[in-house]
Amino acid sequence: MEKEIDFSRYTSIKIGPVKKVCIIDEAVFLEKDIFLIGGGNNILMSENPPFLAMLSKKFDFIKDDGDVLRVGAATIGGKLLSYARKYDIAGFELLHKLPGTLGGIVKMNAGLKEFCISDNLKSVLTHKGWIDKKNINFSYRSSDINDVIYEILFEKKAGFDHERLEKFKNMRKNQPSKPSAGSCFKNPLGDYAGRLLEQAGFRGKRVGGMAFSDVHANFLVNLGGGTYDEAIELIDDAQKSVLQKFGVKLELEIIVI
Ligand SMILES: Cc1cc2nc3c(=O)[nH]c(=O)nc-3n(C[C@H](O)[C@H](O)[C@H](O)COP(=O)(O)OP(=O)(O)OC[C@H]3O[C@@H](n4cnc5c(N)ncnc54)[C@H](O)[C@@H]3O)c2cc1C
Repeated sequence: MEKEIDFSRYTSIKIGPVKKVCIIDEAVFLEKDIFLIGGGNNILMSENPPFLAMLSKKFDFIKDDGDVLRVGAATIGGKLLSYARKYDIAGFELLHKLPGTLGGIVKMNAGLKEFCISDNLKSVLTHKGWIDKKNINFSYRSSDINDVIYEILFEKKAGFDHERLEKFKNMRKNQPSKPSAGSCFKNPLGDYAGRLLEQAGFRGKRVGGMAFSDVHANFLVNLGGGTYDEAIELIDDAQKSVLQKFGVKLELEIIVI
């Protein structure tokens, strides 16, 4: 099955063409080389992306399997957070205002500060079967899962942490509200990308409709009508400037396709 999607509306940064997307309905091996789109919250899409696919609603579910939670990869993070709060389950507080599907969130090992989604993950279902956490390399905002994630198993520990949720809510207060794809660059070891960008004069720096936010320098925001080329120009400029000034090579957190 195929579906036509306008990525200038679908992606959180509001950039992208209208493209046909293959809808995946079964947890099988895909013959074709595809790029899987989750919620589109971490993606900067060019006019010519690779062949695109998405999971169908069949993968949007949360099942209580006794001492584990079985979650479909198309389930959005907010839904799992609400479930965890309702049934008093620990470890999902970081999903507050973390936009995306569980597939994308696990692939990116998304999180906040030292907390990340892999903390209480047990295993991941791909076409190869269930892969145990000990056989997956999770690191800061990344994982080495290169296949489509269909389902995820999480530990089910009692005790939703309301205090931690409040802490996460506070941390998000300096997050820009304009369309973005989240943090543009990963924080280099022992430093902050936002600090380096600010020191290099990129806070509020604008090219056409795109700018590094004046609220938080590491958010590349679309001020309205921003384009892929404008975003790339700002990214290149920032990387060159930070390298020249501080000798630090900023690595992209957003995925350019
Ligand atoms: C306002 C805002 C705030 C954000 N805050 C944070 C934050 O605090 N912490 C953080 O870590 N991130 C943050 N992000 C980034 C984003 O929320 C995360 O990267 C999230 O994991 C993206 O999920 P997604 O479903 O939208 O993935 P997409 O953007 O669609 O895809 C991201 C990557 O995951 C892959 N992928 C998607 N689904 C699957 C699947 N089922 N199987 C295999 N691979 C898959 C894609 O191929 C791609 O490589 C923020 C983004 C925004 C817009």
